[in-house]
Amino acid sequence: MSAETPAKKELTAVKGTHDILPGEVEVWQKVETVAARLFESYGYRELRAPVIEHTELFEKGTGETTDIVTKEMYTFVDKGGRSITLRPEYTPSVARAIVEHRLDLLGLPMRYYYIGPMFRYDKPQKGRYRQFHQMDVEVFNEKDPAVDAEIIEMADALLRTLGVTQTETLINSVGCRACRPAYSQALREAAGLVRDRLCPDCRRKIETNPLRIFDCKVEGCREAARSFPKISEFLCPECRDHFAGVRAALDLYGLRYKVDPNMVRGLDYYTKTTFEVIALGGGQQNAVLGGGRYDDMMKDFGGPDICGIGFALGVERLVAMLALAPEPRKSLYVVHMGDKARAEAIRLARMFRRAGVETLIEYAGRGFKAQFSRANKLGAAWVLIIGDDELAKGFFKLKDMAAGTQIEGAPDALLAVIKEKQ
Ligand code: AMP
Repeated sequence: MSAETPAKKELTAVKGTHDILPGEVEVWQKVETVAARLFESYGYRELRAPVIEHTELFEKGTGETTDIVTKEMYTFVDKGGRSITLRPEYTPSVARAIVEHRLDLLGLPMRYYYIGPMFRYDKPQKGRYRQFHQMDVEVFNEKDPAVDAEIIEMADALLRTLGVTQTETLINSVGCRACRPAYSQALREAAGLVRDRLCPDCRRKIETNPLRIFDCKVEGCREAARSFPKISEFLCPECRDHFAGVRAALDLYGLRYKVDPNMVRGLDYYTKTTFEVIALGGGQQNAVLGGGRYDDMMKDFGGPDICGIGFALGVERLVAMLALAPEPRKSLYVVHMGDKARAEAIRLARMFRRAGVETLIEYAGRGFKAQFSRANKLGAAWVLIIGDDELAKGFFKLKDMAAGTQIEGAPDALLAVIKEKQ
């Protein structure tokens, strides 16, 4: 579209959103299938929550001082006067579902996964969208550090199964309610000393939540934050032991990782372990997935006192790293001539589809030649030919388009030939 003729608003996707078109969608389907199978092999089950939730869920769950809640939520008042938010992340929804359905009383492993869209009013750029997709996995009620290592290993396994190897795993511990207040105070003091070098937002965070200064994307703030005290110096014995346990279990897997003391992740609810997998050479938006432990969230919701840990993976970012070619499709195109043949073609198309063959049928009533050229254009693997002669015999012709060969037979026999080569 040229500069003189701006695209009509109603014919343009909303800023920060995008269509996933045929051709690309097959890669998404493959990723989703591989991920679901892998998660299930670790005992996870799918849990589908609504796209909309009460705004308070995220204010309470994600945290009132986080960038997500203060700047990025799609929030509106519905016709019933409720404040509703399009979910910006999935963890609070799972926690809510557990409390609402008392899933904790079922005595089953509480391991859940989900793949779907999230919404954040973020600044759109490559790898950063307003509607994007996450694969989210969560484990509840399992506090052993080996669980932290297992979930990190599962993330690694997913990437490797999909052929992604150019990544680095970063881990950290952000402490707990016992040790974080002293750290926050130390941060407050350190940030106070360089107040002038911080952006207005971060100056506010000095008072409200100094840990969140690490989330700032402004280079000056990032630079300043590099010299802030490290959380590792403030961990209480329990957090220190837990972190040592995570690292020991990761070593058991032989999984390579780096401890990054500045990696605190942008969410308030994390306790103890946090982790991220970044794409090497991936530029600005290089975080493929991130997660951590959140041992107080359920309790804070007024739910049972059970711990949790999980991660969310950005599907757009993962798909962009994949070199998966969509698998070629083998379809059948049914061509016909005359009214009676058309009726038979419609019946046979249904029969082939029922048998699992991708089948298209010509409805436009064009000549055989035009129908064949359409089949060619669509890349059909086979063409089924139904004309007067064929109708009279009850035998139809099947052309193998790649080989250029043609056979004749009853529908069942032709179907058997297709199924064999499918
Ligand atoms: P978060 O929920 O912020 O911890 O993000 C988890 C993962 O989701 C990140 O590592 C990214 O891969 C992906 N992600 C987060 N925000 C966006 C966004 N605005 N656009 C695309 N992907 C995102």
